[in-house]
Amino acid sequence: TVDAFHDEERKRRDDVYKRIETLAQRMESMESEASELKSNLEAQRMEALRDALTELPNRAAYDDQIEAEYSRWRRHGRPLSIAIADVDHFKQVNDTLGHLRGDKVLKLVAREISRRVRNEDFVARYGGEEFIIIMPDTDKLSAHTAIEKVRLAIADCPFNFNQQRIPITASFGIASFNEGDSIEDCFERADRALYKAKENGRNRIEEG
Ligand code: GH3
Ligand code: MG
Ligand code: MG
Repeated sequence: TVDAFHDEERKRRDDVYKRIETLAQRMESMESEASELKSNLEAQRMEALRDALTELPNRAAYDDQIEAEYSRWRRHGRPLSIAIADVDHFKQVNDTLGHLRGDKVLKLVAREISRRVRNEDFVARYGGEEFIIIMPDTDKLSAHTAIEKVRLAIADCPFNFNQQRIPITASFGIASFNEGDSIEDCFERADRALYKAKENGRNRIEEG
């Protein structure tokens, strides 16, 4: 009976060990599933903030970024400027070259802007043929200098289609945050400045 008792005990113990092992395995697989879900989620979040055509951050990403820069500006008071860029006569580009080549031009313009600004600056595709640049630690004068480089780079960029050179230019509106500004106040000044740049002949920068 003692032997029988020991056998019974050993069997019970083995069963418990087996169950623990199974549970441990299940936990491990759940953990790896959870981490896969997490990285999937992260990838989807990144996707939601990126413009598929130009691969630049999109407008939603801009909204997040300007919020963050705005709070920093309010805390530290370092200058903060933005620029809105709009490709000139882009409808005409589409009409003469077709929509697909229009897309290609947008990609090239996006690349040109990203290349010319500093690493600390943030470039997003704001809408159709409109881009926005956030320039932290930058006053209006420095912003103007920086954006002038971008303007020249776009105007000098050889956009060739069928051996034919297509002149592409963009207009820019710049504004810097002033005491008491909301994000919208500054954006509206930049937008009005852009409108002025269009009115004054395009391929130029105006300040708001
Ligand atoms: P302006 O110099 O005054 O800015 O003239 P514009 O022709 O650039 O301005 P308008 O707003 O009249 O036209 C913008 C055009 O941009 C019209 C629209 O079809 C085109 N567009 C917007 N998004 C895209 C896009 O993703 N791909 C292409 N190919 N075209 C686009
Ligand atoms: Mg436009
Ligand atoms: Mg335009």
